[in-house]
Order: sequence, then structure tokens, then C-alpha cells
Amino acid sequence: MKGYLNMDQSTKRQAAEAALTAVQAEPQWADLAPTVAALVALKPTKYVEWVLLDLRTRCAKRDRPNPWEVENLATAEQDVRLAELRAVVATRHGRPADCWCLGLRDPRCSVQGGTGYGAYWHEYWCPCPDGQAAHQAAQARAYRALEAAAGIPSRFQACTVESYPPSEATRPVLATLRAWLAGSDEATEYRPGLYLHGPVGVGKTGLAVALLKALMEETLEDGLFLNLPQVLARRKRAFGKARDDAEDAEALWERALTVPYLVIDDLAAEYSTDWAREQVYTLVDARHAEEGTTIVTSNLTLAELVTERGEERIAWRLAELCDVVCLDGPNLRDRKARARPDVLTAVRAVVEGLPEQEEEAPA
Ligand SMILES: [Zn+2]
Repeated sequence: MKGYLNMDQSTKRQAAEAALTAVQAEPQWADLAPTVAALVALKPTKYVEWVLLDLRTRCAKRDRPNPWEVENLATAEQDVRLAELRAVVATRHGRPADCWCLGLRDPRCSVQGGTGYGAYWHEYWCPCPDGQAAHQAAQARAYRALEAAAGIPSRFQACTVESYPPSEATRPVLATLRAWLAGSDEATEYRPGLYLHGPVGVGKTGLAVALLKALMEETLEDGLFLNLPQVLARRKRAFGKARDDAEDAEALWERALTVPYLVIDDLAAEYSTDWAREQVYTLVDARHAEEGTTIVTSNLTLAELVTERGEERIAWRLAELCDVVCLDGPNLRDRKARARPDVLTAVRAVVEGLPEQEEEAPA
């Protein structure tokens, strides 16, 4: 029975009722007499199987299991049998055998595991096409919400890693960045940061945004784009003022310290006051302590950060925090002077739609 995704609810219910009636006539299911509603209400198959295994393990550890454990074990065994019956009903009315929603309930099911402080929620999505479509739609919604809250400037919102096409000049950098995206250390779930440096205008910001978006989309964890000079100026202006604006600036700063994924744009701008320099160090140090993933763009190398700005502490922390990637492409603002059309095309694609003079703030 194809096309059940397009079937209306009453047709699906009738098909399930008919399948259940036929299955119940078979001797091996004679001990079970569920209704369709009971099968639909039963928790996801993987969950009921896990509950049974868990109870069996507990009971096996005791010489004399608690009476309530014995009772729960009987219920769990019954539930697994019902789930097996449900799988037969599913295939008979044209659904995949592992479909537990039968097309008749929300294909998402949240189940609480543990109790007290150890409690957590686990979310199951039905493996059938209904469930997978709903899961993808939910992930897309969650990602869009993250992207909208990440503070990405509108002119960079369209940047993606794919829009940075490979060429002879960009291939080594792209290969490095793709490996970095793919390569979180699963043992520690820690991904090192990235220090992207290169001359003003080579598309560092667009690439940083593209990487931030890719990370948020993959993990559905929070990310933030921080234009560092702007944020520091905003916090400084807001000092001592009991306004919403001051609270917003501080909340943004607090978020930057702890957010899972952070882009620090234009790190090497000149900081004229000790306060600003201390703030930059505080931020980098906090990122180091929190083990959040940090992507930094700068027109200075780490060595230049020391020799030209005297920022030894910051450079040292960044070296601990980040892999270093050099984007030594041609300057977008100097297209005529640098005749490397392959790189120009690649970089232009990253910043597609950008106003000509606004790729990055002037140094
Ligand atoms: Zn399903």
C-alpha cells in the first residue's frame, strides 16, 4: 500500500483496524487483545525493549527481586510482545515494520529517563517517513531559530562553506576547513578553535560565518557572531547607565563568554585603553576555560599580534585555543592590482551580494 503519507486519518485508522483484526485471528497472538488505540499509545519499540532489558538486568543482580520489580518485569514483557504485534500490524497496513506511530499519532515521543537530579528527557522519532519528515522539519525550525539569534550581520547571512568554491589557490584552505568541521574529537567532544588571518578584504568574515552556521546546523547548539570592536564600544557607552541597552550589552557579553560556538570578528583592531585590552583577554581566557569552540578573524598573524600590538597574553591564549589558518588571498578591494582571477572568483562568491566597500571594516 503505497502513498500512505497522503492518506487521511480515517482511512489510516480503518486500515490499521482491519490489519489488527486479521492479525488477532492468528494463534500466536491469541494471548493479546489490544485495541488500535492501545497500540498507538504504547511507547516507541526501542524504548519498551530497553525497559525490559534494564529490568531483567536489575532482577538478575538480586537473589530475591523486589515484588514491584517482578510486577514491572511482567508488564515490560507484555509491552515488548505488544510492540511485536504492532510491527506486524504496521507491515500489514503498508507501513515500515519499525513504524510505531502507525501514522495515527505524533511521530515524536519524549520519554523521561532517570529520576531526581539524574532525570533527563530522551526524544524518539518514528523511523517511518512521517517521523523522519517531522524530525527534519523540527531540526530546520530549531536551526532557523538559532541562526536568527546568532547576530550574523545581514550582508553575511547567505555565506556557506559550499559557496566558497575550490580552485588551485583555495583548495588547501578549504580542505583544512572541511577537515576541521568534520573533525571534532569524539572522545572529548571538543573541537579546537580556529584563527583565520589574512589581509583585510579576503573574505575571512564570510568564511567564519559559514563555519559558524555549519556548526550550529550540525549540532543544533547555540552560536554567536561578535563584532568585537562594536561590542566593546557599546559596553563602554552603556557604563553606569541603568538602561535596557546597558543590560542588553552585558547579556550579550555574558553569552559570548559561554556560548558553545562563537565568532570573534576583527580581533586585531586596535584597543586604545587598558580596559578594552583587559576585556579582550577576559573573553579569550573564558573561551579557553569553557572549552567552547571559537572562530577568530584577524588581519594579523599571532606573531604580529605580539610584535605589533604587544598582546602577548592574548596571542598565547589564542595559540592554545585555536588551529591557525592563513587566508592569503587577493584583496577584494584591490581587484585590478591583483590579477588572480580564480581566487577572486572564489572569494567573491563567499561575499556574494556584499556592497563593494563593506566586506570588512577598514583597518
Ligand atoms: Zn511511524
